[in-house]
Amino acid sequence: RLQLPAAVNMIIDVLQAHGYEGFAVGGCVRDSVLNRTPDDWDITTSATPYQVKELFPKTVDTGLQHGTVTVMVHGVGYEVTTYRIDGEYEDGRHPKEVQFTSNLTEDLKRRDFTINAMAYSKDRGLIDEFGGMNDLQRKIIRCVGDPWQRFGEDALRILRAVRFAAQLGFEIEENTKKAIVELASTLSKISAERIQTETVKLLMSDRPEMWRSVYDLSITRIIMPEFDAIMETPQNTPHHMYNVGEHTLKALSLTEKDRILRLTMLLHDIGKASMRTTDANGVDHFKGHGPAGKEIAKKILRRLKFDNDTIAQVTHLIYWHDYRPAPEEKAVRRAIHKVGEDLFPLFLKVQRADNLAQSMYLREEKLARIDGVEKLYHEIMEKHQCVSLKTLAVTGRDLIAEGMKPGPQMGAVLQELLEVVLDQPEMNEKEKLLAWWKEHGTCQKAEG
Ligand code: ATP
Ligand code: MG
Repeated sequence: RLQLPAAVNMIIDVLQAHGYEGFAVGGCVRDSVLNRTPDDWDITTSATPYQVKELFPKTVDTGLQHGTVTVMVHGVGYEVTTYRIDGEYEDGRHPKEVQFTSNLTEDLKRRDFTINAMAYSKDRGLIDEFGGMNDLQRKIIRCVGDPWQRFGEDALRILRAVRFAAQLGFEIEENTKKAIVELASTLSKISAERIQTETVKLLMSDRPEMWRSVYDLSITRIIMPEFDAIMETPQNTPHHMYNVGEHTLKALSLTEKDRILRLTMLLHDIGKASMRTTDANGVDHFKGHGPAGKEIAKKILRRLKFDNDTIAQVTHLIYWHDYRPAPEEKAVRRAIHKVGEDLFPLFLKVQRADNLAQSMYLREEKLARIDGVEKLYHEIMEKHQCVSLKTLAVTGRDLIAEGMKPGPQMGAVLQELLEVVLDQPEMNEKEKLLAWWKEHGTCQKAEG
């Protein structure tokens, strides 16, 4: 017996009372069986969208042409979708045409994996026509029907298989796996947005290091070839025990579930493939891989159609990830200024995961340094010390009042004053700074 939310039972009851069938279906049934909390509750019904709309006072036309109406209950939406048979998928994306049917089995047959192809209602119990329960118990991801055909209809299912394996800790069934490897290249037909969604779900799972399977199954080659390059980049340094890609996977496994943090760890060393030099002793160096990685990461994230804010944060963290401020007040204030107040806590988390995923060489020292920096960061924040122009005691307006002409020079002066304050917080007073400027300023002085 599964526990469905009252609203889901109500919707199914209303459908049944009017002579239609209704079931909870797909991911929510799977998650309920596993005692996981479903993201959303989907209902499948023999009623057509127009019939559904007539039965409920508040509905939203989510995708009438695909049979979906959202029924609103107490402000929460439940997607109610008419039983359908998906025709062939257009360019491996959307079904070219959907055909409604009154047969539940047909609707379950179109679904991707056996564990996602079960339906449930409290009156009819579990409908499991493709061995979904058995696969759930045996922890197996298996296509409904022939994997080659199913991936042929919609190549995104290739990536979904790995994503579910990562989320649930399941194995992919042999034939399904074989088809994945053979058909991986067809993922090139799939839109960046859909690939992004699955990528993020995998990275935000309990096993982000399962990104390894995306590589092992020849999928990164299509969706992120830059990752293949780091899997093939050795790093012979005392700091590392793995090649760049293996280190990345290890670091990923050590981070908490934060979207920006996980994306940053996935790409933090992406610049190493192009920046590797080997010295006379056979030791590798990767000077400048942070800044180089920023550019490569930007290309990858843009290609996957991530939003600008995400791209800015992730690439900024990648740029600075290898920067090691000393655990001293001045250095930490400067670091907060460079990395930015907002991203500084994540910057510390990136450094921690990065160091923990390295070899034991100097590990205690590295972690102690980060602890020291973090402690100082909190102290500096608590004391509200100035670490950016925002809180500098002198503004452009003050400089103009002192007779300076507006222009690009002004920014340079403010930056110079900020440098003073980063070294000596007690200098952050208007009078003191203006006096300092008149005496020591190297930038343009007031004219006249
Ligand atoms: P989650 O919501 O946790 O990401 P889910 O299984 O609910 O996982 P959704 O994308 O919400 O996944 O889709 C709901 C259901 O619709 C799935 O369980 C599956 O039955 C079906 N489905 C979704 N996408 C596809 C697809 N590309 N091909 C076939 N069936 C699909
Ligand atoms: Mg879902």
